[in-house]
Amino acid sequence: MGGKGTEGWHLATRLVRGGTKRSQFDETSEGLFLTSGYVYDSAAQAEGSFTGDNDHLVYSRYGNPTVGMFEERMKLLDGAAFAFATASGMAAVFSALMSQLRQGDRVVASRALFGACHFVIAELLPRWGIATEFVDGTDLAEWERALAEPTQVVLLETPSNPGLEIIDLKAVCDLVHKAGARVVVDNVFATPILQRPLEFGADIVAYSATKHIDGQGRVLGGMILTDDEDFYKQQLTPFVRNTGPAISPFNAWVLLKGLETLELRVHRQCDNALTVARFLEGRKGVTRVLYPGLESHPQRDLVLAQMDGRGGTVVTFEVEGGRNAAYRLLDGLELIDISNNLGDAKSIITHPYTTTHQKVGADEKARLGITEGLVRLSVGLEDVRDIEADLARVLD
Ligand SMILES: *Cc1c(COP(=O)(O)O)cnc(C)c1O
Repeated sequence: MGGKGTEGWHLATRLVRGGTKRSQFDETSEGLFLTSGYVYDSAAQAEGSFTGDNDHLVYSRYGNPTVGMFEERMKLLDGAAFAFATASGMAAVFSALMSQLRQGDRVVASRALFGACHFVIAELLPRWGIATEFVDGTDLAEWERALAEPTQVVLLETPSNPGLEIIDLKAVCDLVHKAGARVVVDNVFATPILQRPLEFGADIVAYSATKHIDGQGRVLGGMILTDDEDFYKQQLTPFVRNTGPAISPFNAWVLLKGLETLELRVHRQCDNALTVARFLEGRKGVTRVLYPGLESHPQRDLVLAQMDGRGGTVVTFEVEGGRNAAYRLLDGLELIDISNNLGDAKSIITHPYTTTHQKVGADEKARLGITEGLVRLSVGLEDVRDIEADLARVLD
């Protein structure tokens, strides 16, 4: 660790220096070890590396020096004891679930999930004999009712996509633990800058690093973090080593460098998002603005308790006139790009009804409040006056 202790380092310092291990060349920037394998001094050393008697690296599906630095930095950021970096956010969510589930188990999940997570819970797990049930994540009575049946794992996302509803992490984790299950939190929308779910009792945190951690639209990546030694050693490690969701060292290096500016970017994007949300609120032709940073958000107390009162980088709003009006807005924008990514330096707008949530059934979309007039705006790092001007030109 560069010869200095990490104890007591503040967040910004951990983001810039956490986990750095210099090679014999004393490089300033972390090295990119683009290697699939490692050479042993002797057959006995090879044997010891496989038994675990020494810590010589074995194969990049198991571990890699650059990937290791990325994992260390994320552990310091989220306050986790163990981490495994994955090739994408979905590889992280899927591995976190499948490593601990077996036929006959039961999973309860919050209804408002990222589209691919929704598919895993609704379609995939039941195919393998794992029962699943969705609940309204904001309704503690629904959680309590669903957890009355024997349950092994809970998956939830807060704030949710695209409705930006907040789930009470502490209250739900307490209920889940009382039921003897584990909680996996998809923390993509909050980012580890605004919310660290392990502090509220979560057992496992999963990220898509593709979003804010890269933040510049370059690579895919993911991360699984936990304090649960039994889960990490007995379940996750054999699962990921043998099924291969490992991240490329190149992508891990890009993400490691992305972390150095994460705090600056997330705070600036939150500032911009709040300004844009206020600008949209009460504007003619805008029927709803959903943003956790607004005083008007129905779960403002939870935003203050869980997310330092900050609303995140995404603003969801509804325009009057349904799909036609939403399409007119998207097509009329000149600065803001139409794309389904988020957390990027560039502002991005999406029409969830016809893209990210296209395959979610009409009833379910209605339950989630995903109407044809709803748009999701990921606010970037441009000057907020230019973002506003782009929206104003089309909305006015
Ligand atoms: C993007 C995203 C994922 C999936 O991540 P990938 O890196 O695209 O695989 C999972 N959950 C949420 C909330 C996301 O936004």
